[in-house]
Amino acid sequence: EYKGMSKERMMEIRRQNCNPMIMKVTYYKKPVFFHQGYMQWLWDVDGRRYLDLFAGVATVSVGHCHPKVAAALQRQLKRVWHTTNIYVNPTLHEYCEKLASHLPDPLKVVYLTNSGSEANDLAMLMARLYTSNFDIITFRGSYHGGTQQTMGLTSNSPYKYPIATSSGCTNTMCPDVFRGLWGGSHCRDSPVQTTRQCGCAQGHCMANDQYIGQLKETFATSVPSRIAGFFGEPIQGMGGAVQYPKNYLKEAYQLVRERGGVCIADEVQTGFGRTGSHFWGFQGHDVLPDMVTMAKGIGNGFPMGAVVTTQEIAASFAQAFHFNTFGGGPLACAVASSVLDTIKEDGTQQNSHNVGTYLMTELAKLRDTYEIIGDVRGKGLQIGVEMVTNKASRDPLPPGAMNEIFEDIKDMGVLIGKGGVYGQAFRIQPPMCITKEDVDFFLAVFNKAIQRYMDKK
Ligand code: PMP
Repeated sequence: EYKGMSKERMMEIRRQNCNPMIMKVTYYKKPVFFHQGYMQWLWDVDGRRYLDLFAGVATVSVGHCHPKVAAALQRQLKRVWHTTNIYVNPTLHEYCEKLASHLPDPLKVVYLTNSGSEANDLAMLMARLYTSNFDIITFRGSYHGGTQQTMGLTSNSPYKYPIATSSGCTNTMCPDVFRGLWGGSHCRDSPVQTTRQCGCAQGHCMANDQYIGQLKETFATSVPSRIAGFFGEPIQGMGGAVQYPKNYLKEAYQLVRERGGVCIADEVQTGFGRTGSHFWGFQGHDVLPDMVTMAKGIGNGFPMGAVVTTQEIAASFAQAFHFNTFGGGPLACAVASSVLDTIKEDGTQQNSHNVGTYLMTELAKLRDTYEIIGDVRGKGLQIGVEMVTNKASRDPLPPGAMNEIFEDIKDMGVLIGKGGVYGQAFRIQPPMCITKEDVDFFLAVFNKAIQRYMDKK
């Protein structure tokens, strides 16, 4: 039972002492006040239980307060919390070896940070130093961080300020086969394809050719053959779980490398088994990045981030002293190490695949039933549901309507997320321990919320 601060008092403090922007985004019209979590569940201060299908933006990977991870943290709390990395501390080394063992050769050198923004910031710096080039390319609709440098990578309106952010960052067209200029009904690596006809011939994806053409145009309008790096999420998270045509990243990586650049996979949302078929999202694209950045699920909610790269790139970065006080601290390493063990012991990745495939297949049936569900996509438990005014126009469902459905789903006890450049996509990225029963509950809730909205219209 909750005996803490009242809701009114919390809102008062929020008004007086918190970042004013978060006042606007309590996410719901009637905000929820959480004080406890366990695995896929959250409880509010009134004792109401919610099924959490957003996991703090794909951050809780193995489950809220997972007992094994909590025990690892407890053990470390009694040993040591902090020694700077200039000394040799066992948790850091155990973790670096363990994390590196989850990546293919030659991705073996680990830099630990405290967040995803910090990891991407570091990756930008390393890409530029290694290549001696400056231009960095990312996708429109992407989110790679909120620091002044990474804001240049991020290409999503709500996160943009009218100031000069990092120069040298260009955002190329996102190869989105549902909302983009060219469709592709068999082009994604997903159990669910778009219903949008694409005109692709004999399995050859013409949409992919067109989107690659756009990337080439981006090169043609940038510094000639002097690319430093290309950042891509294997599935675009904040963009609304957007997937690219199957061969896009493979071809893009080759084009970037031909121009001297390195390729960076931002696995902040897609890593650690979330896509089900593989431990890392990039493996689903059959590519090998030069750097992988990660955060969120790495610590199951404990602040942590990382860049993993090659010995060669690391050597070029060793010209000055790179220091990070908290990056790789003993508490974070103990937690993150336990997260890796737990993913294995709990069969989390396999569960992501099984439950996610089931959920997407069922959601596709709802898509075929309702005019306002335009697209269902994703892999494993990185899922997007694109809402439209009608299927023919593919116009985004306006924010008012999105919010109404979103609030109703929450009032029925399920938390999901929103995303997309027009705020038009629902996002489902739960703790990876959810079950088929949880999915059935959500499907009933989602169906009901859509029905209610349609009835009112
Ligand atoms: N990359 C991606 C793909 C993200 O989704 C985010 C956070 N939403 C970040 C980077 C930045 O991570 P952080 O908030 O930990 O700085």
